[in-house]
Amino acid sequence: MPRGKRSGLISLMAVLLGLVTLGVPAAWAKPASVEATRAELKVNGTRTSFMLDLSEGVRAEIFTLANPYRVIIDLPDVNFRLPQNAGQKGGGLISAFRFGLLDEGKARIVLDTKKPVLIGNAGMSARTGRAVRLTVELVGTTPKDFGAGTGGQRTAYAPLQQQPYEERSRKPKNRAKPVILIDPGHGGIDPGTISFSNHKEKMVVLAVAKKLKDKLADSGRYEVHMTRSRDVFVSLDERLRLSRKLDADLFISLHADAIGQKKLASSVRGATVYTLSEKASDETARIMAEKENASDAIAGLQTTEVDSQEEVRSILIDLLKRETANFSADLSNTLVKRLRKTISLSRTPQRSAAFKVLRQADTPSVLIELGYMSHKEDEKLLNSSAWQSSVAAALTSAIDSYFAKRTAKAR
Ligand code: ZN
Repeated sequence: MPRGKRSGLISLMAVLLGLVTLGVPAAWAKPASVEATRAELKVNGTRTSFMLDLSEGVRAEIFTLANPYRVIIDLPDVNFRLPQNAGQKGGGLISAFRFGLLDEGKARIVLDTKKPVLIGNAGMSARTGRAVRLTVELVGTTPKDFGAGTGGQRTAYAPLQQQPYEERSRKPKNRAKPVILIDPGHGGIDPGTISFSNHKEKMVVLAVAKKLKDKLADSGRYEVHMTRSRDVFVSLDERLRLSRKLDADLFISLHADAIGQKKLASSVRGATVYTLSEKASDETARIMAEKENASDAIAGLQTTEVDSQEEVRSILIDLLKRETANFSADLSNTLVKRLRKTISLSRTPQRSAAFKVLRQADTPSVLIELGYMSHKEDEKLLNSSAWQSSVAAALTSAIDSYFAKRTAKAR
């Protein structure tokens, strides 16, 4: 199609220092029903284009971020009908891309780039009927030019801010039931780890979380909440905020790990229970925390430099209350004892590190890596509904004995 006609139907509204907004007449946009049917990368000399076929034109906002270098494409609630493995293989300037829900009514695509890039060109061209093709063309640049504004760094949705922690007055709780917050990791644009047969951590942990919620709620002993109950992205800050808002008595984060080195993949398996500590219990735990803490960056949120290791440390010292830490350790002991009877545990099933999501002053919190998506047997189990149910049952019984012990002590 000749270039002039390409954007005849839908026009490029603005190109502002790397922030590009593509628009369509408002009457057209029926976001909920828009489908993305195909994604493709095209390399042309020094330029790399990302193309996405949509069932109709939508408003798109495109901008770049550094640390690491990424291009973000924000769209309304788009239903992604792309192959399971779409985006895992890059091309040209793009090393990989991800897509998914960021929030209610917001979808996002994150293009990881191998180096700083500029948005050379962006537009939506008409296809058959109402369908359009969104094209974003990238050109390489230098870190200096990127930083100088030609790359147009822009604060993304819900910028991460170091929120001053407000001390809550710990009045004795007058609640009929303990409040439990279940936290399935990742979601939406952040898939978590992906197994060889393309199972995604975000789906596995959501399935286990739902079963756990049902079991706990069915007992009638707890008030149970979830940080997410569908495939949507929730930032680590939001997870923490919800826990504070609920004044949760227990926070339980669910994950499933994978190991990168093929050599080790067949031997490393089993579940691990993590608690918060200023200094990681070992190198594996440190790497794990780093990986899980990267969730916001993966979703294309602007992570601030404030999050340096030093800052994290001082915050941890403030937050780590002896009492909460003791309860968390107690919970970890109980969990490991109970889980051991049901599932296989890793070689060192109790570890600790600086997980952001566990930084909670008043809520005993644990993060459980249920198993390894990279281990064939683990992967099979993690995706089996029967296994998920038995894990939910074991977790419920551990939580029961944890609270029974606390209540007994309080009397
Ligand atoms: Zn995870």
